[in-house]
Amino acid sequence: MVAAAQQANRMSERPPLPLSVRSHRDTRGLEVTVPKPSYPTRCLRHLRGLDIAPRASDTGQEAKVKLNIAISGAGLGGLASAIALRRRGHSVTVYEQVVELKEVGAGIQIPPNSSRLLLKWGVKFGNTVVQPCDINFRRWENGKIIGLTKLVPDFSRSFDAPYYVIHRSDFHKAMAQQARDLGVVIECGKRVTDYDLEAPSLTMEDGNVYKADLIVAADGVRSLAREKILGDDNILPRPTGFAAYRATIDTHRMRDDPEVAWILKEPALNLWIGPDRHVMTYGVANGERFNMVLSHPEHRDPSTWPIADRHADCADMRRHFAEWDPRLTKIIDMITDTKKWPLLSGARLPRWTARSGKAVMLGDAAHAMLPYMSQGAAMAVEDAAALAELLSRLDPDSPEPVPKQLSRVLKVFEGVRIARAGQMQDASVLNGTIWHYEDGPEQQARDEAMRPEVEGRFFRESPNQWSDPVTQEWCYAYDAEVAAAEAWETRILASRL
Ligand SMILES: Cc1cc2nc3c(=O)[nH]c(=O)nc-3n(C[C@H](O)[C@H](O)[C@H](O)COP(=O)(O)OP(=O)(O)OC[C@H]3O[C@@H](n4cnc5c(N)ncnc54)[C@H](O)[C@@H]3O)c2cc1C
Repeated sequence: MVAAAQQANRMSERPPLPLSVRSHRDTRGLEVTVPKPSYPTRCLRHLRGLDIAPRASDTGQEAKVKLNIAISGAGLGGLASAIALRRRGHSVTVYEQVVELKEVGAGIQIPPNSSRLLLKWGVKFGNTVVQPCDINFRRWENGKIIGLTKLVPDFSRSFDAPYYVIHRSDFHKAMAQQARDLGVVIECGKRVTDYDLEAPSLTMEDGNVYKADLIVAADGVRSLAREKILGDDNILPRPTGFAAYRATIDTHRMRDDPEVAWILKEPALNLWIGPDRHVMTYGVANGERFNMVLSHPEHRDPSTWPIADRHADCADMRRHFAEWDPRLTKIIDMITDTKKWPLLSGARLPRWTARSGKAVMLGDAAHAMLPYMSQGAAMAVEDAAALAELLSRLDPDSPEPVPKQLSRVLKVFEGVRIARAGQMQDASVLNGTIWHYEDGPEQQARDEAMRPEVEGRFFRESPNQWSDPVTQEWCYAYDAEVAAAEAWETRILASRL
């Protein structure tokens, strides 16, 4: 079948298509073949759950070549990689510089393209996750709902996984627990000071050197690995002209105040958008804490910020939103402590893999982005899934030596992931533009275009990227394992032509 298709491809001089097909016999005993479409479509979703549904290939296989993998960084990207790789049978050690594992910050959203993978990997969130029912876009000056995305039940139904929000420390704890349960070794207090990308090995601050078959660098936005892997090609993430105050409020205090308690009535994300600024809010920690991210213009280079600015002045924060919806400013007034975060965005890097073919980076190290699609960590989870999927293509029976195969696998990995993460960086920047319009013609056109979703009328498109059907499909229906497997099949076919 593959040979025939190859011939057809040659004849039409088209690039090769992923060829996965499923055949079965129908009730009359006749063979029916269901091809995997080579274009984005939902027309075969009715076969979901039946074993005749077409797949890109068999994803989720156990690795046939088991590698000894060293991961630098135990953030969400490092832990996701550890879980995904260990599940396939690799031996995994994570080296983390901090002495005690913890995630700072406040809340984080786990969209379905990430939650689908995490739940499949067995990550247990217990009652720490909240499943919000809606996303309400609100007008900055009066809180009027101007955009509306129904998350429950629409997202679970359409994308086979829930949209969650969670406190970062609960997320991090659940990930670390699952990694350890699977047998990952997490070494804290181990700061990597150098990488030998040929060996490959990691040198620690304490002088120890650890060798591995593969290094996965997940060392965050200020990545040392990126410098080493890219050398002169390195492009540092740049300030975006925005910063975010992050804070949480005890919901018990809020419930006691009728002027703010309304926002806790149902679990929802509420997002006020206005000129140059927005405020994202939702409840986390089983509804015990109310999470707020307040994005505002900040043109100073974060490297020049006084340390004290991180522990930001609440008065400054309030000044930024002084003229906004009084129901919102009332909530902002309840914040007693906030930290200010620079919002950096990375460029689309030329490569993520060392020339040796023995080290690769992922997560924020490779694709820092504005948090305006709430997808930075989700991209790291997808990276982890794609990497684990592709590494299980290493073949001990191939005439090609494993290091050569590894180098090829990493090329396919970076090809598929640079494209996907780059698109997400673009989508995040675009949200910053759409949300931050000054009042005027663009803002009016935006609000008018979101009106059908607010009024429950049919719509084919929306400036709200959570609601826009095409963006939704691209963003949330994406299966990182399947996409990686498809990229591999395409590559194999191309090499045979
Ligand atoms: C305001 C804001 C809101 C966000 N909201 C969302 C959201 O809702 N959903 C979402 O998916 N994403 C969101 N993000 C993005 C998300 O937080 C990041 O993309 C994600 O945490 C990156 O994970 P990482 O593991 O790649 O990097 P990090 O979390 O930075 O982890 C890197 C780890 O490496 C360690 N490390 C660094 N250097 C070394 C070294 N030399 N040796 C050893 N260890 C080292 C660090 O200590 C750290 O533990 C948001 C970001 C911001 C700023």
